[in-house]
Amino acid sequence: MITVLNADGQELTPCLLHRAWREVNRARAVWIDEQTIQLLYNPFLFREYRNVALKRDRYQCLWCGCPATTVDHIVPSSKGGSDLPRNLLASCSECNSKRGNRSAFSYLKEKVDAAPHRIKLCYRIIKATYRSTTKLKIIS
Ligand SMILES: [Zn+2]
Repeated sequence: MITVLNADGQELTPCLLHRAWREVNRARAVWIDEQTIQLLYNPFLFREYRNVALKRDRYQCLWCGCPATTVDHIVPSSKGGSDLPRNLLASCSECNSKRGNRSAFSYLKEKVDAAPHRIKLCYRIIKATYRSTTKLKIIS
């Protein structure tokens, strides 16, 4: 088992090695030593943000209109996308896994005829992408 520390150093429930690697590969955690990872986000807050996003989107997948049970990061966490609700879309698990690592725009192009909320989607994607690139520009 791998010890998991929260972003503020608080110890959380330990996890299995492959889960630890998955978090690190997604740029959501870093190794502290061979037995310990530290999360770069707060899972308690994420749960809250997730619920806010689902409620805001009325538990409906913005890609296809099916009932949504998951949230999809507009800018993926691996590319520096935040966990804040403005970077999250309510999504069914099918759309979420179909999109995979593709950009939100390329998935939208594929879905555009079927997406019942394409105007809303477009607006959200532009807003989230713009915010994230502006932030990156300031850092570099
Ligand atoms: Zn869907």
